[in-house]
Amino acid sequence: MKKITLVVPCYNESESLPLFYPEVDKISKEMSKEAEFEFLFVNDGSFDNTLEIIKDLARKDKRVRYISFSRNFGKEAGMFAGLENATGDYVTMMDADLQDPPALLKEMFDTLESGEYDCCATKSTSRNGYSFFRKLFTKWFYGIIGKLSKTSMVAGARDFRLMSRQMVDAIISMKEYNRYSKGLFEFVGFKTKWIEFENIDRQAGVSKFNFFKLFAYAIEGIVGFSTVPLVFSALIGILFCFIAFIMIVVIIVKTLIWGDPVGGWPSMVCIVFMVGGIQLFCTGIIGEYLAKTYLETKRRPIYIVKETEKDLKKQSQNQKN
Ligand code: UDP
Ligand code: MG
Repeated sequence: MKKITLVVPCYNESESLPLFYPEVDKISKEMSKEAEFEFLFVNDGSFDNTLEIIKDLARKDKRVRYISFSRNFGKEAGMFAGLENATGDYVTMMDADLQDPPALLKEMFDTLESGEYDCCATKSTSRNGYSFFRKLFTKWFYGIIGKLSKTSMVAGARDFRLMSRQMVDAIISMKEYNRYSKGLFEFVGFKTKWIEFENIDRQAGVSKFNFFKLFAYAIEGIVGFSTVPLVFSALIGILFCFIAFIMIVVIIVKTLIWGDPVGGWPSMVCIVFMVGGIQLFCTGIIGEYLAKTYLETKRRPIYIVKETEKDLKKQSQNQKN
């Protein structure tokens, strides 16, 4: 019998988990003839009682495992820790807020069992429930990255996907510090089937991604999967040299004909400001790549574990003794 590991990154999900667990427990019972389940909760430095809830689940249900981080490392680190520690033949990632419908797992499992696919991924067809600005920026982001990167990113793709062991191993072999999973999934290749569903609202609690976090994540995606912005800054440089050359010619000719070399101060100031701005912008682009390289070379761990379900078992054994 195949084992499915369900990786669930949780950051302050005390309101969602009591709704989430019964749902996945239900689907695991429905699929009990075909597959066994492992629930791997990753507590990403929550400061509410998420960890307590997970520990309670682990005490009651021996399929529940958990990894608790020493602080908040972000969803990407949570997913990576989950993939690294999953023991299943198939592994899936799910948000704790039930935005990823557990009912789809059956179809996803059958797809992989057919042997034709290595992965069954999901995408939501709408972004209803998200703010106007979030929808607008997401659309722009996919437009931009689509043009800049050779790795094609699927608009609306969720992290909810069931993957074969082979694909999971390929993903965890990439130990980069600046992680952008949507790109990594595409980068490793493998045959993927896409299932679509209507976006579902978060069932409890609030979104953990504000505008700035999402913006930083978008930059992560662009810098991680394209070097075109660097070429772009070089091209702006060439364009400005060309414009400057034409202006020099115009000024020389004008001075020779009308003999007024001092005119045009205001335009000069504007040009200085603009060129200065463009230079800083391009330096910023280069700086962004340099910063990412700097962080990668430090080889800091992607996450730090404070405790796992093994500690819980030890504790209860000590209490018995
Ligand atoms: N999450 C996490 N660490 C973070 C932020 C989020 O583990 O720093 C988890 C969160 O608990 C949830 C999932 O990532 O299970 C998706 O987060 P959320 O639903 O807030 O994002 P949204 O659906 O609004 O994009
Ligand atoms: Mg959500």
